[in-house]
Amino acid sequence: MAQLSLQHIDKIYDNNVQAVFDCNLDVKDGELIVLVGPSGCGKSTTLRMVAGLEDISAGRLFLDGKDITQTPAKDRDMAMVFQSYALYGHMTIYENMAFSLTMRKENPNVIHKKVLAAAEILGLTSQLNKKPAQLSGGQRQRVAMGRSIVRNPKVFLFDEPLSNLDAKLRGATRREILLLHKKLQATMLYVTHDQTEALTLADRIVCMSMGHVQQIGTPLELYDAPDNVFVASFIGLPPMNFFDVKVSGAKLIGGNFQVSLTPEEKDILQAYQNKEIILGVRPEDIREGAGGVPITVFSNENLGMNTLVHGYIGGLKTAEAKISAKLKGWQNYKNGDSASLIFNKKHFFDKDTTNAIRKEA
Ligand code: ADP
Repeated sequence: MAQLSLQHIDKIYDNNVQAVFDCNLDVKDGELIVLVGPSGCGKSTTLRMVAGLEDISAGRLFLDGKDITQTPAKDRDMAMVFQSYALYGHMTIYENMAFSLTMRKENPNVIHKKVLAAAEILGLTSQLNKKPAQLSGGQRQRVAMGRSIVRNPKVFLFDEPLSNLDAKLRGATRREILLLHKKLQATMLYVTHDQTEALTLADRIVCMSMGHVQQIGTPLELYDAPDNVFVASFIGLPPMNFFDVKVSGAKLIGGNFQVSLTPEEKDILQAYQNKEIILGVRPEDIREGAGGVPITVFSNENLGMNTLVHGYIGGLKTAEAKISAKLKGWQNYKNGDSASLIFNKKHFFDKDTTNAIRKEA
């Protein structure tokens, strides 16, 4: 069992840079939590504080109810997997995986059993006598995970473990990590800047920006109901389109377009009548249809099942009028063509706070 609780955690580095502000997170036993956000948002700092590699400036950290805020890293019973695999080149895969146990002078029979079990889980059984240089990048990453598994830690910590792998291997290794998580049912904290990794791996995502947690929730919650413009723009690819619009009766009035509101949407925006809000629309929530928002196409990217069409609303070539739509099927729009777009789902945000406008509970 391993529950982790971060309570009001701050990190202020010696140069007075505050990297993390009031981070609160309860990780359930066996949960895979992904910390995601752009470079410099404080993900690694948070992970390193959990690992004990950085001091916690304020707040408290609990593992299974025990306060470990001041506990040295080596006594925390956690294992960290880094992006650089840091394997010993002169040792075999077996020796690399056994290393931490050998150092602890564990019984050789126990070591042997643990290494074989970990190798089996990771599909490395036939590689144990090889040296790291004889393995592919993906296999080396698995050996790095194997070194953690043999220690049977309470919590696994991953710091961008896939960023050294090429796109194809990243996908495959991501699926392996998911399988590993299922097999071990271990508590895992995983850091990445890649929203696809977060969406595909996480039980719950912690989305961060500039040291602040922006939202914690399941991948679907963050995708479907982002709490603010930051989360809405960070989660989802291609990113959500945003427009400044005014609420006017049952309509939203943009710079050079109008869209109708359903009675339910109008209800949600009741308090915003005659006010400016931010309208968010995901490219995949747009379809073609008569009487929609008129655009002039400037780019047509065929993706196979669908086509990413970029255009300017009303033909106005400004950044504010830019829109991307992921349309069904193989489209063949040419530069300058007209199209009419319908928004299937709309997200609304307060212009001052950038927080989502939702139906009052
Ligand atoms: P991320 O992992 O999200 O890319 P980091 O946690 O590495 O972000 O960094 C968060 C912020 O803290 C950044 O502004 C970074 O420059 C700063 N920072 C990270 N490590 C140190 C350090 N050792 N000393 C001072 N500032 C640091």
